[in-house]
Amino acid sequence: MNDAVEKVQHWLRAAQQVVALTGAGISTESGIADFRGPDGVWTRNPEAEKLAAIDTYLADPEVRRRAWRRRLENAWQPLPNAGHHALVALERQGRLHTLITQNVDGLHLEAGTSPQRLIEIHGSLRQVSCLDCGIRSPMAAVLERVRAGEADPPCLDCGGILKSATVSFGQRLDRKDLSRAERAARSCDLLLAIGSTLSVLPVAGIVPLARQSGARVIIINAEPTAMDAMANVVIRGPIGAVLPWLVAGVAEPESRSVH
Ligand code: NAD
Ligand code: ZN
Repeated sequence: MNDAVEKVQHWLRAAQQVVALTGAGISTESGIADFRGPDGVWTRNPEAEKLAAIDTYLADPEVRRRAWRRRLENAWQPLPNAGHHALVALERQGRLHTLITQNVDGLHLEAGTSPQRLIEIHGSLRQVSCLDCGIRSPMAAVLERVRAGEADPPCLDCGGILKSATVSFGQRLDRKDLSRAERAARSCDLLLAIGSTLSVLPVAGIVPLARQSGARVIIINAEPTAMDAMANVVIRGPIGAVLPWLVAGVAEPESRSVH
């Protein structure tokens, strides 16, 4: 693994625009289960995949009540880990152009990644949106209403159904976010794909897009991914150890600015 890490450090030093794409694997060391890893939510309970679908949520008030109740009862606040912090360090070195995350946990923001460099392509659990009028509000405020007795709180503006501002199966991605992510992939010279099975389209398509545009592709994941054949280097190891090791070994740039 030493050789691979050194090679990537060398490329990182030379890179002008690094784009990182993260998946659930970067947050497992914060205690949040992924979906498809060995201890993944869907690996253990394939039925759970159905509950994540938008049509079930829309059709069944009991599914919505359960979703709000679960959120209210789960007061646990995960913290960012060494992997999230390493990406902040990479940004502070002036190397990180854009961070595209499939995660909805908000941990990149909490670690200190700049909001303007971050694309939360599957949305965020920290916000709620109305499925009818689209208005957004903070999750905490809606959970207060659930606590006060509204089991399935409707939108205060239009009476529509509220849901966490995350993209469920069957829901479309935000087009602006997707095209911004694709633009970043096309213009980067190095792509770090971290902690994702790279099996969910269209986000996984970022990898071939970057590759076809001439970028080097580095995959960091504990298990094989759908895109390993496309990578210049695959590093198989725990993200919380590999990523800080990679980033710490890259010397400070003399003078560098990222546009
Ligand atoms: P995934 O669950 O499909 O795959 C995660 C991958 O990360 C697996 O291959 C696993 O082996 C690897 N992994 C897990 N922990 C690791 C570690 N510490 N070091 C190295 N590798 C590790 O994840 P995905 O590709 O992101 O797809 C899941 C979808 O579900 C995403 O689109 C995301 O929106 C959502 N999701 C989000 C969260 C979150 O926000 N934290 C959690 C679960 C699922
Ligand atoms: Zn509304």
